[in-house]
Order: sequence, then C-alpha cells, then structure tokens
Amino acid sequence: MRRTKRNQPEPLAKAFTKDNQVYFRLQTALMENVSYNSVIGRNLVNFAFLDQGLLERCMHEFFAVYVQRRDRGVRPDSIEEELVERSRRLFIRNSYLSIYLLGYVQFLMDEVFDPRIFSGITGDDKSLLNLIMKEKPDGIPDMLKSGMISVLIRSYESKRKRAEKALKIVWEASQGDTRTPVERYCQLEQEDSFFRKHWHSTFTTTLGVWDAETGESVRFTVLETIDDMLRYEMVQLLVEGLGYKFCKNCGMPFIPSGRSDALYCDRVMAGQEKPCNKIGANLAAKKKVARTPALKIYRQAYQRMNKRMEQGYLEREAYDSWVTEAAEKRDQCLAGELSYKEFADWINATSRRR
Ligand SMILES: [Zn+2]
Repeated sequence: MRRTKRNQPEPLAKAFTKDNQVYFRLQTALMENVSYNSVIGRNLVNFAFLDQGLLERCMHEFFAVYVQRRDRGVRPDSIEEELVERSRRLFIRNSYLSIYLLGYVQFLMDEVFDPRIFSGITGDDKSLLNLIMKEKPDGIPDMLKSGMISVLIRSYESKRKRAEKALKIVWEASQGDTRTPVERYCQLEQEDSFFRKHWHSTFTTTLGVWDAETGESVRFTVLETIDDMLRYEMVQLLVEGLGYKFCKNCGMPFIPSGRSDALYCDRVMAGQEKPCNKIGANLAAKKKVARTPALKIYRQAYQRMNKRMEQGYLEREAYDSWVTEAAEKRDQCLAGELSYKEFADWINATSRRR
C-alpha cells in the first residue's frame, strides 16, 4: 500500500511574539496552516517536563491502531484522519509532543520521513534509519514501522534533555545576578560551550502577510525545523525575561499559571495521580504541623474530639464550642500570649477522657 508522496512544505513554522504570547503557524504535510499561541516559553518548559514515556506510549498506540484498522480494510484516508485527530488533541498537552506524533503518522501512512521534525539523527540510528527508508517494492514492513519508534524516541529525548539542561543553566546564572536578561544571554553565548553549541541561533525575520483571510501584515520569523522552533522559544523566553522556576516537587522547570510565587507546578508526574501542587500542599501542611508542637497537640485533640462526636459520645454543640475555644487558645499560643504548657494542660484537661 504505497500512496502518492506529498511534497514537503517548507519551512516547518513561522512565528512572532506579542504581549507575552508566542504565535506559531505550523506547516506539516498532514496539517496545513495550523496556528496556535501560548505564553512565551510555556510549551518549551512543558516539553522539558515530559519524559519520553508519554510519546513512546502514544506512538505504540498509533502503530497498533494503524495495523488494526488497515487489516480490517479501513481506507487509508480514514485511518490517517483518526490518527491526525488524536495528535491534534494532544496540542493542549504540549505542541512539540503533537508535532512529533504528526511526523510519525506521516511516516506510517505515507512512508515519508520528515527531517524537519526528526532532525539530528546520527550514528547507529542513522544507519537504522537508512535501512528503514530504503526503497522497498512492497512498502515498509510492519516490523520496521514499529522499529522506527525507538529511533524517533531517542531523537526526541536528546532534545528534551538539552532543553532541560539549558533552562537549568540559565536559571542558575540568573540567581543573584543584576544584569538584564539580554546581557546574560550574550554572556552565555560567549562563555558556555554547551549553550552556544545547541542554542546559538540565527533567524530570518520577514515582513509579510501572516493571515491570508484577514490580510494582516506582521513581522514573522522563519523556522525551518523543530530545533529552530525550540530555539526560537528559548531565546524569546530568555530575552523577554519571563519568569520560569523549578517545581519543588518534580524538580522540573515550569511557568506559574496563577500566582508568580507558586512553589509547585500543576502538572501530573508520571506514576502520580495528583498534580505537584496538590502533593506539595499536603506535604507543606504536614511539615508545618510536625514542626510546631502546639499545632500537633491541637490536631491530635481535634481528631479525638471529632471521633467522639461521630461515635455519639459527645453532643454536636459541646463539640462545636470545644473547637471554637481550642482554636482561640491555639492562636493565642502561636502568638505567644499563652504558654505552651498552659495550652497543653488545657488541651489535656478538656479533650482526654476522664
Ligand atoms: Zn512539578
């Protein structure tokens, strides 16, 4: 089943920034002229957060869907539509993840390898890729179509790690530093060989018509590959100096979506059910209780009294008035108006069974 290969549109994307937002217009063979925008850097720091697990699972799932539908005789156009739709839905999660998936769908359906998405493949993976892409009269066999996944994942993961490392370097350099973000950026370019090697960027910026429908003319930057897209977003994030920080739970970079002094991100780590900020809030509350003896004895007494009330040994009114008085005394104790001993004596006298 070999279908007509579509021409590769060039370049992969165009972009501009405005009011803290980055706007991309994406050109892939399967999705033409997709425009999206988000806070500058958010997709980049979330890309650094997402390990290869999610992409790997998605690709294997796509492969399974492809084989199953094809063997049931579903038309290639319908299979493609289904897989493109699944990729599109993941845009909300992360645009880069979605672009990698679109690249894989194109490979599955058209047997075309888009080097703009899967760039920088070298060594053994390059040999494997050449073997996979070699002209085969009956098309690429299934085994190689699924074998391709590991090649693509390694390419993705090396870029993700690079983004994570660069965000860390820049963040560390900014601590206690009074220079402007642009000055810091210049110094990194000059002095940090890792940064210069992977993030040095020269872009072409064009004045032209962005939107064919509205005819709106804007200045946009031409981005040939996914590396350029990542670089562009990195540079914008750094020179605009928009704050990102590292989550106290997962340790990965994030851009706070609410309060700028947030300590935790709101993403769900692999293997966890709750997002970091929920886990973090519980941890912080537990730590606080453990640190302060007055809070600890209050909490224990509160639980005793609550249990007694629920079991019917204590009237609701008596319980309520105890809670009110206990909370008052707790606050007095925390404010230093009541000694810990006096507070503890009162707690013991009122909440222990006599
Ligand atoms: Zn986190």
